[in-house]
Amino acid sequence: MNNCELSVQEFVDVLDTLWPRELAEDWDAVGLVLGRPSASVEKVMLVVDITLDTVNEAVAEGVDVIVSHHPLLFRPVNSLVEDEVKGHLVAALVRAGIAVFSAHTNADAVDRGTSESVGGALGLQGMTPITPSVTSDAGIGRVGTLPSPVRLYDLATQLGRLVPQTAGGVKVSGDPDQMVSRVALCTGAGDSLLDHPEVLASDVYITGDLRHHPASDVQQARQLGRGPCLIDVSHFASEWFFLDGVRHTLQQDLPDLDIRVSDIVTDPWDFVVHPG
Ligand SMILES: [Zn+2]
Repeated sequence: MNNCELSVQEFVDVLDTLWPRELAEDWDAVGLVLGRPSASVEKVMLVVDITLDTVNEAVAEGVDVIVSHHPLLFRPVNSLVEDEVKGHLVAALVRAGIAVFSAHTNADAVDRGTSESVGGALGLQGMTPITPSVTSDAGIGRVGTLPSPVRLYDLATQLGRLVPQTAGGVKVSGDPDQMVSRVALCTGAGDSLLDHPEVLASDVYITGDLRHHPASDVQQARQLGRGPCLIDVSHFASEWFFLDGVRHTLQQDLPDLDIRVSDIVTDPWDFVVHPG
């Protein structure tokens, strides 16, 4: 395909094939949210979050379309005043003629989606969704088995090396020397699945954004001999990982496009302190 002939709408059609919209949760806001469908596309940037930094980067690089994992306009917006964040972002994007497409829970659900990408990199075998979609084999989260049992510490270290470095690092609840084999994981924020039978039957559950009480409940249950160890990784970092696979897939389908993954860390935490 000649990139000069590729329109935003034609690019959207390709993205809709990659991440069918019917796989998105009812509450989600996915698809093209900004831009002129007839505009041409030559340069694409993949990001987890649309922030001041990633928009500035896209403007500086002359990007035509940003593909984001998190929706730009997730909740209803009543104002686009430019001294507020959403107004600032939308105005900057419109002025620069940058279209925005978001693939969120539909990108979580598909094969080679956010969770399956991380699971594959960890070597999980026989992966199935924790919560299958009603209409297909896809679904939220993945559960699978490591080729051979490893120490919990080593699995957390392997995960930490896969994903971008963030201030919070990788937190673990469990005995570092415990051998683990059955792994459940849900990229992003996965505490809603903590009670799922597939998670409870696993040796370890990898997710992000775990709060005190849900994590504490799992820790306490584990002490009674029931429930998994926990690995809590940065929400951003866990979802950034799959973008390189997306770039690879899109580049194969659309070789004339200039597609890159932003390496700006959009995790909101800048540093942690461990006072001595
Ligand atoms: Zn997320």
